[in-house]
Amino acid sequence: MSLAAVIREAGVVGAGGAGFPTHVKIGSEVEYVIANGAECEPLMHKDGELMAHCAERVVAGMQAVMEATGAQKGVIGIKEKNREAIDALSRYARRAEVALHILGDFYPAGDEFVLVYEVTGRLIPPGGIPLQIGAVVLNVETLHNIALALDGTPVTHKFVTVAGAVRRPVSCAVPIGISFGELIELAGGATVDAPAIMDGGAMMGRLTRNLGDCITKTTGGLIVLPGDHSLASRLERPAAVQHRIGKSACDQCTYCTELCPRYLLGYAIEPHKVMRGLVFSMSGSEFWNRWGMLCCECGLCTLYACPEDLYPREACQQSKRVARENQVSWTSALAEETPGMTATVQAHPMYESRRIPLIQIVRRLGLAAYDHPAPFDRMDVAPLRVQLALKQHAGAPARAAVAVGDRVRAGDCVADVPTDALGARIHASIGGRVRQIDPLIVIEAG
Ligand code: SF4
Ligand code: SF4
Repeated sequence: MSLAAVIREAGVVGAGGAGFPTHVKIGSEVEYVIANGAECEPLMHKDGELMAHCAERVVAGMQAVMEATGAQKGVIGIKEKNREAIDALSRYARRAEVALHILGDFYPAGDEFVLVYEVTGRLIPPGGIPLQIGAVVLNVETLHNIALALDGTPVTHKFVTVAGAVRRPVSCAVPIGISFGELIELAGGATVDAPAIMDGGAMMGRLTRNLGDCITKTTGGLIVLPGDHSLASRLERPAAVQHRIGKSACDQCTYCTELCPRYLLGYAIEPHKVMRGLVFSMSGSEFWNRWGMLCCECGLCTLYACPEDLYPREACQQSKRVARENQVSWTSALAEETPGMTATVQAHPMYESRRIPLIQIVRRLGLAAYDHPAPFDRMDVAPLRVQLALKQHAGAPARAAVAVGDRVRAGDCVADVPTDALGARIHASIGGRVRQIDPLIVIEAG
């Protein structure tokens, strides 16, 4: 069976957050396979801990993808601060002719466009993908899951970090489908009442207060915060209020643009111009909005750069939504017809000197009191019930392949996608009886 078929059977998707089905991603010949171990969300440690404790598997997954894609170069992007992981990976990487690319502790080092530039010196075309410059980028946990798939083990568990206002910050592998509430208990429980939870990280994560939400194949971890933490208050401000404040308070200082990592790589993104769409009561917004189309939503402008605490990221998100609705996508022709814009990409002379150290972001977000290690714990987690979302990946939702009342074993396929559709299989993360199949698959142990 081909590697792509093995990966498809095992339900492997991008574990770094995007959830793109991996069997599709490795279907072309490339020069580089790049492992993304540049974890850069504040307080998150799960990739560092995974590389330190499962280095052999990460390298084995890398080798398998290099063989399948004919890549001559395999490079793992990892931050210098992760010494234990660097030592562990070095033991296996040398033998496998895989190189380590050591990165500084800046944000967002893990952005695909940034990482590819750091490793290869090449810039992905605007709105493009790494394949266009001969590279495929996979998160280190995805490579770990590929190695497991080759041993016949499908994706049933997720590496996560639980940090913030918890008694014992921890990184661990847990069955997919356990609730946020259970996960927080594994970290000794929250130290605050009625916490706000950042699902996936403080910068790019989603804010929730629902302890019943469940872990999926793309959950990176949880940051638990006091319910009235300033980050939660900022993110919960309604869109209409964000819009109103932006309209009256944006002084066009351009700090959001000057610190934008995609702008510094040379892409035609200038969030302060998108903000003009608000300032000028939407007049010219068709043109202003184009300056937000290449935004990667890293949050640096909203959560770090803007001195007025405005929402340039959210303005860019809105501009992308409008573009999608109007079926407008990025092209060179669009750039050429937009006043002041060019399709040419060249890194800004200040690219290196304006990279933002992670520690500064931690302080700016009011997270310094929670900035602790979250060491790996090989705990055995045996939940009584899991809830498996049918859409944990890019593409079409999976369809249940079991019925209510069926008995399943851990690792059985419980939902599938047609062979010609983009998507990924889902497997039971515990053994037990199926209690529900719509809108989620619920399995109760026993
Ligand atoms: S940094 Fe804030 S105030 Fe300055 S241009 Fe950007 S959105 Fe406006
Ligand atoms: S979120 Fe802001 S800083 Fe990040 S890419 Fe978008 S515009 Fe640039």
